Amino acid sequence: TLITNHLPTAELQALDAAHHMHPFTTGAELAAKGARVITRARGVWLTDSEGQEILDAMAGLWCVNVGYGRKDLAAVAARQIEELTYYNTFFQTTHVPAIALAAKLAELAPGDLNHVFFAGSGSEANDTNIRMVRHYWAMKGKPEKTVIISRKNGYHGSTMGGASLGGMAGMHAQGGLPIPGIVHIDQPHWYAEGGDMTPEDFGLARARQLEEKILELGEDKVAAFIGEPIQGAGGVIVPPATYWPEIQRICDKYQILLIADEVITGFGRTGNWFGSQTVGIRPHIMTIAKGLSSGYVPIGGSIVCDEVAEVIGSGEFNHGYTYSGHPVAAAVALANLQILQDEKIVDHVRDVAHPYLAEKWQALTDHPLVGEAQLVGLMGSVALTPDKARRTAFAEPGAVGYRCRERCFANNLVMRHVGDRMIISPPLVIRPEDIDVLIARARKSLDETY
Ligand code: PLP
Repeated sequence: TLITNHLPTAELQALDAAHHMHPFTTGAELAAKGARVITRARGVWLTDSEGQEILDAMAGLWCVNVGYGRKDLAAVAARQIEELTYYNTFFQTTHVPAIALAAKLAELAPGDLNHVFFAGSGSEANDTNIRMVRHYWAMKGKPEKTVIISRKNGYHGSTMGGASLGGMAGMHAQGGLPIPGIVHIDQPHWYAEGGDMTPEDFGLARARQLEEKILELGEDKVAAFIGEPIQGAGGVIVPPATYWPEIQRICDKYQILLIADEVITGFGRTGNWFGSQTVGIRPHIMTIAKGLSSGYVPIGGSIVCDEVAEVIGSGEFNHGYTYSGHPVAAAVALANLQILQDEKIVDHVRDVAHPYLAEKWQALTDHPLVGEAQLVGLMGSVALTPDKARRTAFAEPGAVGYRCRERCFANNLVMRHVGDRMIISPPLVIRPEDIDVLIARARKSLDETY
């Protein structure tokens, strides 16, 4: 049979379960329930094989920032495929899409982040970063500086390197992770772990774990610290305001390279071009992907400061991917950035998030299940709890969140659950009328969960 959108949903689901291994999915559950088949999308709306219209409050996987189905981006891809389908950027060759995108990123990124090493995804970019920071210190005559400090419940990808940097216990348990030389400190998750401390004191205490770890290992052993300005996949956890300034102070004091993983927070998500600007840090390296191309094509990369790029460039860096700077991906990403600029989408994020979405989001805390609501730009979370006053967890962690997510999905709203936190990260072009639908469906789903 020819497999097209015209096949009945059940047939598509059966073929899918028989042959397609899904990321982060239990195969048996998939075979029993069948995956929802998404057939097309426009703006912030998905359509499934049954013709249902679903509001995508996750922008796919936090990536479709300019919204689905833009013909101008399709045209750029088609043009680039015809003109120069592929050429590599190894061995002293280059091409205009890679040059133009790198120059554009240097213009957009703050400070002296002026150099870009391209990859195919966020995970690959973080693998690049591991090798780059270690190689940097070796080139500086400090080959012992190899340890990278990251955080429990952080997410940095699914490759051996990316998942090792990440602090997801469930991922470390599969495949023998983490790789050597990566250590994890606690996350700045006040709601779940702050106890009786004020958020401010807790933020400082969690940041100072970095200093304690550096002193324990020895400054001469530590290469870098990596963190997401705002943890995304961990549950949209907004750190207390005291956290990042203290991390910056510690990195400066001990000469530790600071890597901001901007895969989610980059390109407008938090109301600035980069999350680093929102939390007030000056990283040496930024990891980028997702919103770089709004998910239209796979592309990622590392934006690197002058000093690190100069040292790395003074010899040969034995690293690269066939698709580093892929011309079609680079051309589409460049056009995507141009759209963000021309249509003032980063300003739109600020305008629509505060106060319009923020007020409605915060109002969800009047629901008996909701303990807190956090929102920065267009990434938000609500924490579900059986006891608001004590911020306690449910007896079976994640079960209520899962049920709520299922209710959302049945109500044609894509929200994700991370344990018992419900999260959103809609396309940045979301309009007030879509926000009204989002909030109404979220509230209905919470009611049905309660
Ligand atoms: N870093 C962060 C902060 C992410 O959220 C993700 C993906 O969700 C990654 C890295 C990995 O990116 P990719 O899935 O493109 O490899």
